[in-house]
Amino acid sequence: MENCIFCKIINGDIPAQRVYEDDDMLIIKDVNPQAEIHLLLLPKEHYADIEEMSDEQAQTLARCIKKLSGMTKQLGLEEGFRLVSNKGKHGCQSVGHLHIHILGGEQLGDRMA
Ligand code: 5GP
Ligand code: ZN
Repeated sequence: MENCIFCKIINGDIPAQRVYEDDDMLIIKDVNPQAEIHLLLLPKEHYADIEEMSDEQAQTLARCIKKLSGMTKQLGLEEGFRLVSNKGKHGCQSVGHLHIHILGGEQLGDRMA
């Protein structure tokens, strides 16, 4: 997708700190971390959000999240983590390529907003 910053990162056109990659997804470090560990799970296929997501893309995303559950130790998240996906204006989504924030590495607050 042209002009999508996350597609450019996935394609290697823009540098990022890549922590994991497979055929379905790329996990990078967020450039502006909001927690001790702040990663972004990027499905490799471009779609803006869950509204645009096809059934097949939903299955892929489920596979990615399941895979993440087996990677907590290597990511330093064995004590727990929080997954967040912002959508649209009220959700303050700033990049129109679906992504899941992975937050952890410290005790997070018990409120989400
Ligand atoms: P959103 O606001 O859409 O939920 O999340 C977008 C996230 O992408 C933000 O946390 C922001 O810091 C991160 N981000 C934006 N541009 C870049 C970039 O070029 N590289 C990396 N690694 N993260 C980015
Ligand atoms: Zn994209």
